Amino acid sequence: MSGSATLKRVVREGVKHASKLADKLSPPPTGLTFLIYHRVGHGAGGQMDISPPTFTAQMDYLANNGRVISLDTALKELAGGEALVPGHVLTFDDGTDDWAEIVAPVLVDRQLPATFYVATEFIDQQQPFAHGGRPISWSGLRELRDSGIATIGSHTHRHLLLDRLPPAEIAEELDTSIDRLSAELQISVDHFCYPKAVPPSVVADRAVRSRFSSATLAGTRTNQLGSDPFSLSRSPIQAADQFKWFHLKAHGGLGLEDRSRQRLNQFRYRNERA
Ligand SMILES: [Zn+2]
Repeated sequence: MSGSATLKRVVREGVKHASKLADKLSPPPTGLTFLIYHRVGHGAGGQMDISPPTFTAQMDYLANNGRVISLDTALKELAGGEALVPGHVLTFDDGTDDWAEIVAPVLVDRQLPATFYVATEFIDQQQPFAHGGRPISWSGLRELRDSGIATIGSHTHRHLLLDRLPPAEIAEELDTSIDRLSAELQISVDHFCYPKAVPPSVVADRAVRSRFSSATLAGTRTNQLGSDPFSLSRSPIQAADQFKWFHLKAHGGLGLEDRSRQRLNQFRYRNERA
């Protein structure tokens, strides 16, 4: 391992320990925890690519502890008047070929529902995602649709960061992705996920609310009764998350890690478009 990789790992672990301590001082409330995955066993490497044995162990844990519910069920529960029973919602971003080949079989085996947010231009053009992420095909997405566990939503067309786009381009990103998903998959596209979890401008927020019934960000917090369905918080699961970290995140913990990353991302993404 190179010196800079070792330093990164040490910093990452340090932030996780500090976040755990912060949770001890101010424990995260129980509620619905949404987890973010990107790729599983895709071979792209990096923090967004989880190994299949790790992913399977995480799904076994969730299947045997508490409950995993679909996004639609979660939205009903968050809006309902009943006391909220803690639970998990699984989400996957982007649209890589491991979804059909590796992820779906694990979820179907355990009957775990999940939501998959697709950036449609990458599928249309079979264009790789960042870090060499191979796109899934439309037929792979049809298989996923038919698996019985999947809700498929929009992640824009070109994976553009909506907070910095003019209104016409925001509308085009959203409408093109809705059109492509409904034409290829014959589904109604009700759910949206902001690329890189970058919060929207006022205009983008309005455009999303007028087209969808929910939108997800990051934030690493549980969602509570009455939470805004257009600003749902999710907890990103990273390759470096050993089981103890996954376990804390699965219960809404390690929010400090997310807040530190978001501050860093504001700087990292300042000149980016996608
Ligand atoms: Zn994405």
